[in-house]
Order: sequence, then C-alpha cells, then structure tokens
Amino acid sequence: MSRFDIVVVGAGISGATLAERYASLGKKVLVLEKRNHIGGNCYDFHNEHGILVSKYGAHLFHTEFEDVWQYVNRFSRWYPYEHHVLAKVDGKLVPIPVNISTVNTIFNLRIRTETEMQRFLSEVQVKPPHEEPRNGEEAALARVGLVLYEKMFKHYTKKQWDKYPHELDASVLLRIPVRTNFDDRYFNDPYQALPLNGYTRLFEEMLRHPNITVRLSTDYFDVKESPEVRECSKVFYAGPIDRYFDYRHSRERKLQWRSIRFEWITLDQEFFQQNSVVNYPDPKDGDFTRIVEYKHFTRQKHPKTTISREYTTDEGDPYYPVPNSENEAISQRYREEAEKLSDVYFVGRLANYKYFNMDQAFKNALDLFHRIEGKH
Ligand code: UDP
Repeated sequence: MSRFDIVVVGAGISGATLAERYASLGKKVLVLEKRNHIGGNCYDFHNEHGILVSKYGAHLFHTEFEDVWQYVNRFSRWYPYEHHVLAKVDGKLVPIPVNISTVNTIFNLRIRTETEMQRFLSEVQVKPPHEEPRNGEEAALARVGLVLYEKMFKHYTKKQWDKYPHELDASVLLRIPVRTNFDDRYFNDPYQALPLNGYTRLFEEMLRHPNITVRLSTDYFDVKESPEVRECSKVFYAGPIDRYFDYRHSRERKLQWRSIRFEWITLDQEFFQQNSVVNYPDPKDGDFTRIVEYKHFTRQKHPKTTISREYTTDEGDPYYPVPNSENEAISQRYREEAEKLSDVYFVGRLANYKYFNMDQAFKNALDLFHRIEGKH
C-alpha cells in the first residue's frame, strides 16, 4: 500500500487549502515545498529585532465571499483591519484610490459633495477610442483623466511592471476604484481583517493534521519520479505553469513574471511614516514603488520600526504574472496542455498565470475541491 494518496506542490494558500481539505476526508497528503518554510508569499516572521514582518511583502486579506471568511476563521482569530494607502504626489501625501481629498490636495480645490466630484471627474475623464478601454492607459484615462494619470499611475505602473499602462491589459489598472466621496479605504469588501498571530501561524494551523506530511526545501521536480510521489492518485500543482512544462525544452517563448526585491531597514525610532504603505509614483523619488512599515498592520509595541522599500524586478521568484495579450496567449496554450493531463490539477496564481487576490486563491482551491469531491 502506498504511503500517500495526494501530493500537493506548494504550501501557500492553494496548496494548504487542498491539503487541509483532503486530510479532513481521511486522505494521506504529502505537501512538497521548495522553500524552507510554509505559507507561500504570505510567510511572516519576527526579524532579528523582534518585529513581525512579511518576507515577501504585505498581505491584506479582504473578501466578500462568506464561505472563504468562514473557512479562514477556522484556523485563526482575526482582527478587523481596513487598509489605507497614501501616495506621495508633488511632495504631498494623498489617498489612493483617488477620492475627494486626493483631488482637493492635488488641484487645490474645495470639492465637498459627490455631485461636485462627479462633475470634476466628468470634465477630466477621457473617453476611450472604442467603447471599452483596451489597455491600462485607456482605462486610467477614462477614470481619472490625464493629470492624475500622469501623476499617480503612469510611472508607478512602469516601476511595477517595467511596462507603461498602454502595454498592459485594462484589468491591471481597473483593480483600483475611483471614489466620488471621502472613503479612503483601499478595498470595498465587507470582510477586511488580519490574522491575530500572523499568517505563518494560520498556515501552521491549516497544515497541523495527522494526515498531512510537509517536506520543506523539496523541489517537486527532483522527486517527481520517486515511488511515493508516483503512487499518489492526484497531484495539485501550485507552482509556475511554465516550469511544469519546462519552457526551456518547449517551443514556447518564456512567460514573463515580475518579482520584488526588498530593501529592509530597521530604525531606532518608534515610527517612520504615518501610514502602513506609502506609494511613490513619481520617478524622481526613486525606483522603488512603495515603502511598507509593518508595525502599522500589527500594532506591535516596539521602540524600533522596520520598513521595506520595494523594487519590482524581472529577476527572482515569480510573484506577478504580467497581464497582456502575448502572455495570455502563451499561458492559454499551457492551460490547454494542462487540461489534457488527468489527475493533475493546476491551482493558484502561479499555476494559472492569473493575478488572484488572497481570497480568490482560497475560493478557487475550495471550489476545485468541491468540484472534484462534492460538497463536504
Ligand atoms: N497603481 C498605480 N499607482 C498606485 C497604485 C497602483 O499606478 O499608486 C497601478 C499599478 O499598475 C498596479 C495596479 O494599479 O499594478 C494595481 O494596484 P494594486 O495595488 O492592486 O497592486 P498590488 O499591489 O496588489 O500588486
């Protein structure tokens, strides 16, 4: 008899969810994780100063999915946390998403009502040449007009993607709403919260099951042919889809991914900036996209503070798929290959080459489990 029924590749949101669900059905699950820790890019830890930080950047949980909210609450207590982001524009800090305060500060206006804001926006908005915006530039211009586009979106997008908005799908910039009131929350979802003891503890709880074995520092492709992996009846693969099909040996052009390089600094002062995240859309302020100060998320009391400057790069672990038509066409061909395989399921951001939020990753993994096994 084989030791494991299911192999899960990757111990991030998708992998941990499928491992937990199958373990609860009584299946023996082997989780293979290339890194030396669980949690995927949500992984957080106390640094050498004792400050809780996220190794791969801030993760803000928000969802409208009742089932996802119920599910994550099984593994941790959560505290309400509504995310706010400021952007440094013309030397001043303004809220992003654009709201009335943003416009008043940048244009030195005194808009007070939704009607006035709608009037302002309708005067500056640029109608896309075709009915629907066909790229990120058209999408942003249609929402906020030329001046805000130039000051807040154009160069930030270049720093983030190494592409200007016109080279990217409209969907990228449509992730951020534009508000006609003073609401300065980053997200609209009814549930916005952070796990009380951090994300790593949440994943530990999810994977703490006698039916789950986690092997860290283990690359699936090194052990793929071993008997214990071959004998599993199902594989859930949450790694990059091009790695699975080994782009180096295929005829496909390489899929583009973006990664982040973090510059960590701990300062001998209680706080560095007034907000958890400050975006730097102006190229004159530096090549980094944003500065994150972790103590604002955790409300940890500590005489020092740790900040990170984030530089988005082409090198390094894949974080973001780059959404444009060429990459979509390549990934679609990979997905067609993936569909031909039986008992291998591709889950999560990297395996689907899709820019999922955390809650969508939980949702997709739960939905996949229900599709295969029925409701439990
Ligand atoms: N964006 C921008 N300026 C900002 C924040 C975002 O131009 O100050 C653009 C940028 O292209 C980014 C996209 O909007 O990739 C979506 O932003 P979001 O915050 O959703 O990106 P995330 O940080 O989640 O990757």
